[in-house]
Amino acid sequence: MTVQRAVVLVSGGLDSATALALARAQGFACHALSFDYGQRHRCELAAAARVAHSLGAVEHRTFPLDLRQFGGSALTDDAIAVPEAPGEGIPVTYVPARNTVFLSLALAWAEVLGAGDIFIGVNAVDYSGYPDCRPEFIAAFEQMANLATRAGVEGKRLTVHAPLIDMSKAEIIRTGTTLGVDYGQTLSCYNPDGTGRACGLCDSCRLRAAGFAAAGLPDPTPYQ
Ligand code: ZN
Repeated sequence: MTVQRAVVLVSGGLDSATALALARAQGFACHALSFDYGQRHRCELAAAARVAHSLGAVEHRTFPLDLRQFGGSALTDDAIAVPEAPGEGIPVTYVPARNTVFLSLALAWAEVLGAGDIFIGVNAVDYSGYPDCRPEFIAAFEQMANLATRAGVEGKRLTVHAPLIDMSKAEIIRTGTTLGVDYGQTLSCYNPDGTGRACGLCDSCRLRAAGFAAAGLPDPTPYQ
């Protein structure tokens, strides 16, 4: 039996760690992909490497892709502050077209690897209002991927898995805990300190802390 390969986007956060654990649980040989996109918090990349290693990825690559060339987000532009409280509409932590860019590179690598599957840990329930975390986006990207690649044209269908898309944060945490994810290794904060400790105040920290509370599980996050 040949092992099926999958490319898994791993950011260092809680959601993508869970997506990787789910891909492994389905028997995929996982090629983890992270992006050094100029994010404020460099410790996110160290978290991604820890997560990929501890959850059994066969390979982990960090792709340099400096989105600071464009900026336009609180995560990639020092002139835009990370808000400490949720506001109205799509927040300034939205990185323009980020998931389209990341999935496009995952698609390129998948085609080279002969992988028919890509996993991304987007979530449409407890998300921050990002348009590229919606199921319509994932379905549209998958359709595009099958039109855009030699693999797709030659009948090797490519599937984009977003296994967390309908889960609450609590369900994600319970699922990952069952699969052995150590969430103490992950980093969700938009504003961590130099040692990777979370602020406890940003949108992402709030969602994460509420998720552990709702799941009835202890929050292993190191806070400042
Ligand atoms: Zn935070």
